[in-house]
Amino acid sequence: MNPFDLSGRVAIVTGGNGGIGLGMARGLARAGARIVVAGRNAAKNQAAVAELETLGPGAIGIEVDLSREDDCRSLVARGVEAFGRLDILVNNAGIALRKPPQDYTSAEWHRVLDTNLTSAFLCSHAAYPHMKAAGGGKIVSIGSILSLMGAPFAVAYAASKGGLVQMTRALATAWAADNIQVNAILPGWIDTDLTRSARVEVDGLDARVRSRTPCGRWGTPNDFEAIAVLLGGPGSQFITGAAIPVDGGYTIQA
Ligand code: NDP
Repeated sequence: MNPFDLSGRVAIVTGGNGGIGLGMARGLARAGARIVVAGRNAAKNQAAVAELETLGPGAIGIEVDLSREDDCRSLVARGVEAFGRLDILVNNAGIALRKPPQDYTSAEWHRVLDTNLTSAFLCSHAAYPHMKAAGGGKIVSIGSILSLMGAPFAVAYAASKGGLVQMTRALATAWAADNIQVNAILPGWIDTDLTRSARVEVDGLDARVRSRTPCGRWGTPNDFEAIAVLLGGPGSQFITGAAIPVDGGYTIQA
């Protein structure tokens, strides 16, 4: 058995139309999986699908707003309808809102939590019966270094990402008997749309990231291709409940 072969598998990647999500989708497609890309922006979905179709056996885009429960449930239903099965769910869609905690409205708090954390639970909940019926599956959620660390400008984001790690552990224990492995990836500072404005607007951020990260650089979406294949495929049958930093060593530097 090739532990990195995903032939015949179907993966849903939320937020798979750009950044880290597209990086993971590329890896999964190259390994042989068909991909369902989910995002709000139809043009970005289409562009990602066009690229993924050149890399693997097939891809579709589904336009959804995953801060809504109905969209989480319909995403999984439509993905299964399109490709006939669901083997891998990557909970990657996320937003960040940079402001001090005291300036948050409750609507802003809920928007971040709904998008980053509740959507991951609802998609996992909707995926479970399909994976159980198929005899197993893989769920991979994208946390952050802020799953582990604090930051003054990111109260809702940090809460959502910390929650994802605990959700991962709880689901891993609940669904191990169904042969569903549930893991999290914790990215460090990655050059994507999410961080591009902060990199320009936050004084000294670029230099701080480079000097504080032992690998000495920002991560790129390509850095997530291989781990997605590992955690999405047969190579990770004995890995579950893990939260794996992909951060160039950021969180181990004293
Ligand atoms: P991007 O902004 O490039 O990607 C975010 C993705 O999420 C987009 O594809 C976006 O698609 C999708 N998305 C956002 N809101 C929704 C929504 N309501 N419904 C459906 N899709 C949505 O950023 P990254 O690639 O950097 O982020 C990906 C994940 O990685 C996020 O969870 C982020 O928190 C996490 N992360 C990123 C880090 C970094 O340094 N970049 C560090 C640590 C974690 P669309 O706009 O079409 O809706």
